[in-house]
Amino acid sequence: MKINRNYCRLTDNYLFSTIAAKTRAYQAAHPHQALIKLSIGDVSRPLPTPIVQALRNASDEMGQARTFHGYGPETGYPWLKTAVKSYYQTTKNVTLDPTEIIISDGAKSDVANLLDIFAPHCTVAMTDPVYPVYWESNVMVGHKIKLIKATAANQFLPLPSRRARADIIYLCNPANPTGVCYTREQLKKWVDFARKHDAVILYDAAYEAFVRDPALPTSIYQIEGARQCAIEICSLSKTAGFTGLRCGYTIVPNDLKAGTVSLNRCWQRRQTAKFNGVSYPVQKAAAAVFSSTGWTAVQRNLRYYQRNTALITQTLDALAWPYVGGVHSPYVWVRCPAGQTSWQFFDYLLTNAGIVCTPGVGFGKAGEGYVRLTGFNTTAQTRRACQLLSHVLTKFRK
Ligand code: PLP
Repeated sequence: MKINRNYCRLTDNYLFSTIAAKTRAYQAAHPHQALIKLSIGDVSRPLPTPIVQALRNASDEMGQARTFHGYGPETGYPWLKTAVKSYYQTTKNVTLDPTEIIISDGAKSDVANLLDIFAPHCTVAMTDPVYPVYWESNVMVGHKIKLIKATAANQFLPLPSRRARADIIYLCNPANPTGVCYTREQLKKWVDFARKHDAVILYDAAYEAFVRDPALPTSIYQIEGARQCAIEICSLSKTAGFTGLRCGYTIVPNDLKAGTVSLNRCWQRRQTAKFNGVSYPVQKAAAAVFSSTGWTAVQRNLRYYQRNTALITQTLDALAWPYVGGVHSPYVWVRCPAGQTSWQFFDYLLTNAGIVCTPGVGFGKAGEGYVRLTGFNTTAQTRRACQLLSHVLTKFRK
């Protein structure tokens, strides 16, 4: 058998399984202690009523001969593309053509599957620490990966450099796991760099809805020149609680060309050949997100997570504890106490406060010495965790 040997280069992803195993073992030894997970990378609020109603109505339609839907258009129903187009126009002042919007089952598959349209043996730049899917999907296809460190030395927001010269550049903004966000001026530097060096930017905007400051970018197409060099991948997972429903969209501008070849056409061809589209009820639910009642309800959930995240950052601020993120992102990237590794601090927080965090080193070597906390738990649990966290960190301040 001839398998893809690149798969043998992938180590098992131990991060979340190790967190789960350590947490289970600690809970078994301390059955009466309530643990609080600030490691959650999933939403916890239920879907808002207008979205559930849209799902229900669409399911009812599927049960009637007159309104039943079989295979839909592979790249998404026109009415959902229209809703996304108007979302971009009204909230970002970005004009898109519906043909540029390709509906998908989420950002994870798209950031990985997009590699199908590029040549073999590409050089790919991405940050360290990084959302692990970029790394793993590029190892699978055998691309050469160049890691660009995102550390305190560059405020966790690396800018273009010789090291970043690559065919493909992944940017995640706001970033997972650090929670930081580029300004428009910084993003413009990446756009200019990509155009100068004939690179394509794969811009992951999964957390754009968490950006609060209108001066910060929520789409790369707010930057002049981006239509010529960037693909934007977006998701309704964190924006609207779709982690279990599965829907997102990828924007491939018609201006984006490799010579005379349209990348939009390549991606449409790839999707129509290998994907049969997102289910009708889920696309109806997605369209409801962009309705006025849906959007109001979605905002309520986003504010809920943002308030939780603010509880964490206020706790750290009160101790003058070093961290970044947490303002335009549900993620807070927290420095471990002096001398502790990510896993040592994970163990320390678990055993001394009953708090579960995510060790930063799980996102890459440069994540060592940090942990990631999230605002995705309930407010009551987050508030309790903050009291415990404050108590634990105060000891290191003495
Ligand atoms: N991109 C980033 C940066 C993420 O953090 C995540 C999920 O955690 C995803 C993409 C996946 O999104 P989806 O649920 O749409 O596949």
